[in-house]
Formats: sequence, C-alpha cells, structure tokens
Amino acid sequence: MAQQEEVFKRLVSHCKEYGFVFPSSEIYDGLAAVYDYGQNGVELKNNIKKYWWESMTLMHENIVGIDSSIFMHPTIWKASGHVDAFNDPLIDNRDSKKRYRADVLIEEQLAKIEDKINKEVEKAAKRFGEAFDEAKFRETNPRVLEHQAKWNALHQRYSDAMNATNLDELKQIILDEGIVCPISGTHNWTDVRQFNLMFSTEMGSTADSNMKVYLRPETAQGIFVNYLNVQKTGRMKIPFGIAQIGKAFRNEIVARQFIFRMREFEQMEMQFFVKPGTELEWFDKWKQTRLKWHKALGLGDNKYRFHDHEKLAHYANAATDIEFEMPFGFKEVEGIHSRTNFDLSQHEKYCGKSIKYFDPETNESYTPYVIETSIGVDRTFLSILCGTFEEEQLENGESRVVLHLPATLAPVKLAIMPLVKKDGLPEKAREIMDDLKFSFKCQYDEKDSIGKRYRRQDAIGTPFCCTIDHDTLKDNCVTLRNRDTMQQERIPIEKLKEIVSKEVSFTELLRKQI
Ligand code: ATP
Repeated sequence: MAQQEEVFKRLVSHCKEYGFVFPSSEIYDGLAAVYDYGQNGVELKNNIKKYWWESMTLMHENIVGIDSSIFMHPTIWKASGHVDAFNDPLIDNRDSKKRYRADVLIEEQLAKIEDKINKEVEKAAKRFGEAFDEAKFRETNPRVLEHQAKWNALHQRYSDAMNATNLDELKQIILDEGIVCPISGTHNWTDVRQFNLMFSTEMGSTADSNMKVYLRPETAQGIFVNYLNVQKTGRMKIPFGIAQIGKAFRNEIVARQFIFRMREFEQMEMQFFVKPGTELEWFDKWKQTRLKWHKALGLGDNKYRFHDHEKLAHYANAATDIEFEMPFGFKEVEGIHSRTNFDLSQHEKYCGKSIKYFDPETNESYTPYVIETSIGVDRTFLSILCGTFEEEQLENGESRVVLHLPATLAPVKLAIMPLVKKDGLPEKAREIMDDLKFSFKCQYDEKDSIGKRYRRQDAIGTPFCCTIDHDTLKDNCVTLRNRDTMQQERIPIEKLKEIVSKEVSFTELLRKQI
C-alpha cells in the first residue's frame, strides 16, 4: 500500500507537470479541495463527457439531455430533503485542531479489521498453495473468526447509530475503539455535530428582499423538476430517460485524495422514468449497462466491482456503487439507485401542482418510479489516470512515464514531428498538420531530439506520433509510432488519416459496450 501511495503522489505531480490538473488559485497558495483542469486535462475531461453523453443520448432513442441551471428555487432543496438531511457528522480533535467525519473514522477502523482478516487469508494462501480452500479457512480459522466477530459487532453498533442519527453514540464508538487523531495521536475529541454540506448564497439586489439560495449539491433535482416539460415537449413515453452533465457543490468536511473528493465537481446523471413495479428490472439492466460502459475503456475488468448497499435510504428500494480500484483501495465512482417515486412525490407535495404522467395506453395517471445513474466526471478522470499511468522500465535500460489512455479519450491523438528544423521538413509537417487538424486533435512539435519528443507525448498519452524525415520528401511516407508498443512503421501520408481515425473513433468505443 505504501508503495501505491508513493506512485499516487507521483501521479499527482505528473498531472501538474503535464497540464492536466492544477491546484486552484495556486499563486495564492491554493483553495482546499478545489482544482483547475489544464490544457490537457480539459481535453481528456471533455472526451469523457462526450463518451458518456453519446452513450446515453445516441445509443438510447428514449434518452434525451437537458442543461438546467445551478441556482434553483430554494424550496426544491427542502422538498428533496437536502436542507434537513444532507448532513455529515463531524468531530474535531482539540489538540491538532483538525476536523474529521465521525463516520469515516469508524469506517477506517472497520477497514483495518478487514485488512487483518485479508492478511491472515493471504498468509494461509501462500502456505497451502494450490490446495487452499479460502471459504473454509474463513469459516474455521480461530484468528479470522475473532476478527470477524469484532467487525460484525462494530459494524452493527455503527449502523444502528447512523440509522438513528445518534451522535453521542458515534462519539462513544470512537472513544471505545481507541481511535486517535492521526496528526496529534490523542483522543481529545469534541462532541459530534451535524454539518450541512450545501453551500448557500443570497440572490436579490436589496438586503431586505434577498433570498437564500443554494449551489446545487447534485444535478438530479434539475431533471426532476423538468421531467414533465421534457416529457410533454418531447412526446416521450415511459420508459424514458433524461441525461445531464453539470457542476455540483458540496462543502465536504474532509477533502482528501486529490480530485477524488472536491468541493466543486462535475456530475453526469441520468434519471430513467419507469412504470411502478418495473423498477427493479430496470435497476438490474442499468447496473449491467453502466458496468459495460466502464469496462469498454479497457482499464481491466478486474478493476471494477459492485458494492451493493445493505442499508438503503428510506425512499430507495435498491442501490449499488460501481467501485474502481484506486491506489488507495476500491472507491465509488458511480452510484446507481432505485429511488422509487420519492423525489417526484415530494415536489408534487411542495409545489402543490400535479406532476403526474398520463399513460395514453392505459388511460391512467401515475407518478413514475426512477432509476438514477450518477457518475462523477472527476472521479472517472482519476480512475482513468490511475489505471493508465505507468513508470515503465525499457529493455534498453531507459525508463519512460507513459499514460496508456484509451486512444479516443487522449487529449492529443497525433503528434506531428519533423526530424529536423530545416531542409523543408517543417513545411511538409505543417502541410500534414493543416490537412489532419480537421479530423482529430494534432500537435506539432519540432523542439529537442526525437527521443525527448516521444517521451513528452508518452507522458500525455498521445497514441500516435508521426515523423517526417528526408525520405518523406521523396516517397511521401512517414514513420508512425505506436505509444504502447513503441513500434514504428513506414506508411504513406494519405493513409495517416484513416489509420488514426479508426483508432480514436468514438463510434468504435461506443460499439465496445454492446
Ligand atoms: P461519497 O460517499 O464518496 O461521498 P456519494 O455517495 O455522496 O459519494 P453521490 O451523491 O451518489 O455520491 O454522487 C454521485 C457521484 O458523484 C459519486 O459516485 C462521485 O463520483 C461523484 N461525487 C460525489 N461527491 C463528490 C465529491 N465531493 N468530489 C468529486 N466527486 C464527487
């Protein structure tokens, strides 16, 4: 794990060094948990969004998109439950003056116990080799059973406290478990308090008439309050979906792990409206559809897993997370929730108007049930970087840092390089650039040795580099180098467009999901 953390640190520096992600307001020493995307980061991010958007709106005839505003009527957040219940339990350590989420401290304690169990299993697996029966070992080994019993008891106590919003009990668990502040190493904890995660501001021009408004903590509510507008104007029939990509804001108490947990981030959400009673079938379909979307990126099928929620929110009847194996463990990238008719019913109650769907086939009106798929752009970005960053030792003793990005998502698709800055080679390279720049993102580079230029392109994940040399002027061929295999082949200039276009095509990536 320690080694993984080191690699992660180097990945974070790499992101800055190569124009992917910068700390926000850096020249003023930054703003906690807020980041800016640089020249390469924004290209990768836009490509991720395009991949998601097209997967939703091109591949499904019954899904359309919207773009709702960040500010919304404040009653929306009352109706959705965010004003009263979008809280995290926080606790401060009096010595270090550091603030933590009480639930996270306890979950980390649970993870430590799980680690102990896994270590026992790993040790035994090594000892017994092929003959090892893991299930039996877990059921019978006294040390594993002892740890498991501890885990079960703690988990039960923790779930009960969270479900009852019993803040005193959360603090008592922290004390009983001997959990200390990682900075000060002491148990000098304050009481646990609830902390609402929504940012608020004021709208209006005079102090008297100002209205408190919130920066949306999720994009979904913009879809719920527009669902009937879209349904009617788009003549949509259930089942149908509405997709949206946009910024969301949460005043996270503990913002850590780079862009994994930010205060300003971007979500890609899709609400799928279905007939009551069919929601669990749709939930299963969407689980599979979304997993395929992730796997089509080619980062490795074993990097993903579902984490089904055992405890459900009172309005949900099924929920799962798609987790990705980050260097700091399996973490949620996307949530898929069967939210019943909770949100629409709440809005109906609070706005006092009927927002029911009229089913022309059965002549009845009802409030649709909703399956939601909710994925973070930034977490997807991070998962892709973590899954493709490699510090590779080459056979010739050299090393290179390479991002094996899915070619379709790479910020630059083709680097165009004249071997030398003279003899008409730059002119020829520019000619190629001027032709291909209409098809995909190209980058012209004539500075430094070819080796250095290759390394620069490897570091930003450019799938192809083409070199124009003296022979090019005679035979109209270039050397095309593949990022991953580093193999080079001589090809006619007129073939370049076809070869690169095929590899970087969104259509091909979309097809991989089927
Ligand atoms: P977590 O438990 O990690 O706080 P969540 O369950 O609150 O996440 P959701 O409300 O389900 O998250 O939001 C859907 C998606 O939005 C998440 O799967 C994640 O990808 C993204 N997301 C949520 N909060 C943040 C954040 N603070 N920074 C970056 N992405 C986020």
